[in-house]
Amino acid sequence: MQANAAVMPVRHGRWAIETVEVAEPGPKEVLVRVVASGICQTDVHARDGFFPIPCPAVYGHEGAGVVERLGSAVTSLAPGDHVIMANPSCGECPDCLDGFETYCANAPKLKQSGYRSDGTSLTFSRGNEPLYGSFFQQSSFSSYTLATARSTIRVPKDAPLDVLAAFPCGVNTGAGAVLNVLKPNPGDSYVAFGTGTVGFAGLLAAKLSGCDPIIAVDMFDDRLALARSLGATQTVNAKHPQLVDEVRRLAGKRGAKYCLEAAGVPEALRAAVEVLAPRGTACLVGSARSGVDVSLEMRTIQQGRIVRGCVQGESHIQQFLPRLIELYRAGQLPIERLVRHYEHAQINEAVADMLAGKTIKAVLRIGNA
Ligand SMILES: [Zn+2]
Ligand SMILES: [Zn+2]
Repeated sequence: MQANAAVMPVRHGRWAIETVEVAEPGPKEVLVRVVASGICQTDVHARDGFFPIPCPAVYGHEGAGVVERLGSAVTSLAPGDHVIMANPSCGECPDCLDGFETYCANAPKLKQSGYRSDGTSLTFSRGNEPLYGSFFQQSSFSSYTLATARSTIRVPKDAPLDVLAAFPCGVNTGAGAVLNVLKPNPGDSYVAFGTGTVGFAGLLAAKLSGCDPIIAVDMFDDRLALARSLGATQTVNAKHPQLVDEVRRLAGKRGAKYCLEAAGVPEALRAAVEVLAPRGTACLVGSARSGVDVSLEMRTIQQGRIVRGCVQGESHIQQFLPRLIELYRAGQLPIERLVRHYEHAQINEAVADMLAGKTIKAVLRIGNA
């Protein structure tokens, strides 16, 4: 099967659309015709060499499309099903068996090795040259790809795949951190540090949970305006000279109950801890590159404050993502307002816009719905 894939030829390079050959699905895999794919910071981390997957490579880990063919052991899906492809896990390690699949011991291998789940075979080929893929067991920047059935989720056929492509990583991560981890009660104060897709998904989930006030912090004023229109009661520019004092003042009481750090920068995590009320929780979901340290004044966590992280919203993707999609369809999670569409060949431009803060959620249109 031939496909058009956005190939990264070398680290820090530029993507080029190339014709590649896609392997047949293994027993537990499905062949998916990709209609759309979100782009996420993690794809840029891969481009810049922060993961072991070698180049040339095909990335993409927020695919949405239509099942074309099934592996011999797949019973959960059928050809023609509309699907999204989400975070992979093995289902067999102690963390998966404990019910925490987002901390799967085999996740690094499944997400970043460049190989399929058997650990040796490749999804794509191009002549005799090796071409690495299976990024998050999906490499969704290709018009056809292989995904593990375990991490492929059936979605309603009348829902737009080019919006659902925002859900598998970004929306899952932000909404999951709030609904699965922080679990705020109505009236709890909530602060979003960073309003990219993850930060906005968290903010929308905080609004759904009845949080009040909801304070958004970002360095881009246009994002803060959008945050106000999507449920933030107050906003503060991250460059505010007394950022911590200002956020604490707006949060009322003795500071914020919950903070979501979705910026992935040390200054934001430090501020997220410092604005907390005693017994408050700051959760790190921002995608920090390895080697980045943060410093905290030790006394700031003595007051019963909790600093923690979570991966992929700690969600059970097969249950949680359909629930989020239902909320979206009911108008309660207006993710379409975060999305900007690009053609497949515009991938370099889409990433540049994303990194410049011009686009919140870039979604590539790769095939016909
Ligand atoms: Zn596992
Ligand atoms: Zn991601």
